[in-house]
Amino acid sequence: MSAILFKNASVLDGRRNEALADQNVLVEDGEIREVSDGPITASSARVIDLAGKTLMPGLIDCHVHVIATVANLGANAELPNTLVALRSAKIMREMLMRGFTTVRDLGGADHGLVMAIEEGLIEAPRLVICGKALSQTGGHTDYRGRYHARNVDYYADKAGSLGRVVDGVDDVRRAAREEIKAGAQFIKIMANGGVSSPTDPIAFLGLSADEIRAAVEEARNAQTYVAAHLYTDEAIRRAVELGVESIEHGNLISAETARLAKERGAYVVPTNVTFDYLAKEGASFGLPPESVAKIEDVRSQGLAALQTLHDAGVMMAYGSDLLGEMHQHQSDEFILRGEVLPAIEVIRSATINAARVVKQEGKLGVVEAGAHADLIVVDGDPLKDLSVLTGQGRRMPAIMRAGRFVKDELAT
Ligand code: ZN
Ligand code: ZN
Repeated sequence: MSAILFKNASVLDGRRNEALADQNVLVEDGEIREVSDGPITASSARVIDLAGKTLMPGLIDCHVHVIATVANLGANAELPNTLVALRSAKIMREMLMRGFTTVRDLGGADHGLVMAIEEGLIEAPRLVICGKALSQTGGHTDYRGRYHARNVDYYADKAGSLGRVVDGVDDVRRAAREEIKAGAQFIKIMANGGVSSPTDPIAFLGLSADEIRAAVEEARNAQTYVAAHLYTDEAIRRAVELGVESIEHGNLISAETARLAKERGAYVVPTNVTFDYLAKEGASFGLPPESVAKIEDVRSQGLAALQTLHDAGVMMAYGSDLLGEMHQHQSDEFILRGEVLPAIEVIRSATINAARVVKQEGKLGVVEAGAHADLIVVDGDPLKDLSVLTGQGRRMPAIMRAGRFVKDELAT
C-alpha cells in the first residue's frame, strides 16, 4: 500500500478544545506514521494538500443495529437470514460513506459479519459486536406479543433478531457465555421497557438484580463489560449499582443518578435521533401503533438529559440507534446534540470518548502516530458548523479506512 502524505491539514480529534492548524500527517501500511507541524520527508508518498480543510479521525457510532433492516423489529426477526445479511451489508456501507469508520452494534450483528468485513467481502466500518442482546420474557427483545408462546430459543439464532430471551440466573450465564464464545466483545442486556417491543411499558424493569449481577460477572470474567438498555431513573440507578458500565439511551436520568454514574465510572450513549425520527417517520415505516404510543415517554426528555449528564461530568459517546429506512438520519445526532452541548463535546462523543467505549484508545478516534489510519477529510470547520458532518458525507471529499481510501475526491 503506497504511503499518503496529507499537508497543511487542520487536525481535529477532540483531544484539545481547538483544531491544530497546519499539520502534516503521514499514513503508511494502514497506520498513521507521523504527525508534525514541521516538514515530513516521504519521497514515494502521494502528497495531498488539505489547506482549508479539516482532517479528523473516522467517526465512531457507539449504538447501532446493523441488522435492523425494517422498523418493525418483530417483523425483522422473521426475515430469512440471507436477506438480513445482505441488507445489513448495504446498511454498513452507507454508514461508512457517512464517515463512520467504526460502529458498535448493540444487538443482532454476529461474528459472521465481522469476518465478512475482515475478509474484505463487504465495504463496511469496523464492527464491534455483542451478539444477541439478553432480554427477559416479555422484555425488550421478546417479539412474541401477548398471545404467542413459541419457544423462547426461537430468536437466539435468527439473523434478524436483535436479541434472545433469557429467564433466570443460570439462563443468563449460559446465554452470556454462548454469546462470548460466538465472538461477542461485550454483553448487552435489556434492563428496562422499550419503545419498539410490544408488551413492556417504558417503566418496567428488565431482568432481576441477580440476573444483572450474573451478566456483569460473566462479562467481567471475559475481561469485558455490560451495556444496558435503560430509560428511567430507577432502572439506570439499579443498573449502575449492579455494575453496568455502558448506559444506553439514559433519557430520564436525574442529576443525582448522573452523579452516581460519574462516581462509578459509568458512561452514557444517548440516542436522540432515533426518537426524533421514530416520532416523525416511524408509523409510515411500519412501526406498530403500540410502539408509536410510547415514543413521547422518552423523546422530549432526551435532550434535557444531555445537559444533566454534561453538568455531572459523565462521559457521553455518540449513538444513533436507527432502524430500517431511518438509518439515513444517522448523522443528524450531531445536530440535535449541538443544540444543547458545545460542538467540541459533540465531536468528542464520536472520537476520543467513543474510542474509550470500544476499548481502542490511542488506536481509534485520534489523529496521532500509531493509530489506525481511519480518517475523514471535511470540507469546512465542524466546530463552527456541525452540519458539515451530515448530508450522507456530502462535505467529506475523502474517507479512509485502515489506510485505504473508500472515497477519494481529492485527486488533482
Ligand atoms: Zn435500547
Ligand atoms: Zn438499540
